[in-house]
Amino acid sequence: MWLGQNVVTDNLNIIVPNSDAVGLGLYAFIIDDLGYRNVDANVPINHVFEGVVESFTKFQRDNVFITVTEATPHGIFRVITSAPTTADMVVMTAGGLAVFYSAWTLYGIALTNHTVISSVHSQNIGCRKDMRWNIQINTNFMGKPCDDFCPTLWHNVADHGREILVTEWDTRFSLKVLLKRSKTMWRLSRDCQNSMCMHNSNINVHKIDLPANPMPQDYENIRNQESLIQNHQPTYLGQQCGVLYATNARDAHVVTVPWRDGVSNLNHNSHLKVLHWADQLGPDLFTTSFAQFQKTYNELVENGHPASQHGYTFFREHPKSYSPPNALIRKLARITRNDMDVTSNVLVIKHVRGNKHAVVNCMTEDITYINNIMKRAIGRNEFWT
Ligand SMILES: [Zn+2]
Repeated sequence: MWLGQNVVTDNLNIIVPNSDAVGLGLYAFIIDDLGYRNVDANVPINHVFEGVVESFTKFQRDNVFITVTEATPHGIFRVITSAPTTADMVVMTAGGLAVFYSAWTLYGIALTNHTVISSVHSQNIGCRKDMRWNIQINTNFMGKPCDDFCPTLWHNVADHGREILVTEWDTRFSLKVLLKRSKTMWRLSRDCQNSMCMHNSNINVHKIDLPANPMPQDYENIRNQESLIQNHQPTYLGQQCGVLYATNARDAHVVTVPWRDGVSNLNHNSHLKVLHWADQLGPDLFTTSFAQFQKTYNELVENGHPASQHGYTFFREHPKSYSPPNALIRKLARITRNDMDVTSNVLVIKHVRGNKHAVVNCMTEDITYINNIMKRAIGRNEFWT
């Protein structure tokens, strides 16, 4: 359809927020009006969609299929970005169309998304193979380094880089607003297999995503981590300073927080690679929410003094990374009850007041302010809520 070919009836995958399919009479429309029949009623949901897919139903008429996936309200883009290939990453609403990797789509090239185990493509994830696609398992076909197209680079669905095409025709059903609200980030693969790409860890030993132990305890650990960041190849195009509260450290430290690989302009706090200090991903290795596990404090009125011109965003680790309680924060905030403990490393980023995406560098002087926020916020039992 997007490719502008002669119109032929084709398979259609529809993703709706849960209960909308029933509420809008979608099933009845497909069966009664379009003449499809319900097949494979009890198809199990693929494990990668657990937690984001409520139900999956397949309909067939002759050799053409329609699938309807009911996603949890926050899971719509996670379903799309977990789909088996880039070819499935074409999204249409009543008001717009988005095509991720539009150049490849135009040339009929689909790159396998490593989120999904290949053997189950056609069975239970709402998408069917199509022989017209030239399916590639890595980017070797490019014959050159992947650059911004590298499958290992994280993309924000609200980004407007050259890898995404968004077109809108009815602002009542704005796709851009939907994309922005989804807060979804994804990547196609953990490792790049392209033999010419700098993000291929087989040919580039300086490409280190996360060190074996992201829990620095002393100055030596932090120095090692800093040198890994400085020696990272390809070189990070920018970096900021944040304050780290490591689980077993004696003091808070000002540390380097680089911009993510592939980011040349920092205009969103998801562009920061906080992963070197706080494992925000946990098991979410391919699709995640950039807004998860962070809390921003903008108001800073100290004893009648005017509010600070800056605010701070606290990043903590994914609860499933099973990090220990943070002894430093326990001491600073005078926590005495185990259920009040803050677990894991906490990384703090400074920003212009009122705009958490306008990031500025933390300095040693900020540590006192941040400590005060922790004392007050944790005391009111609302630190992460
Ligand atoms: Zn690559």
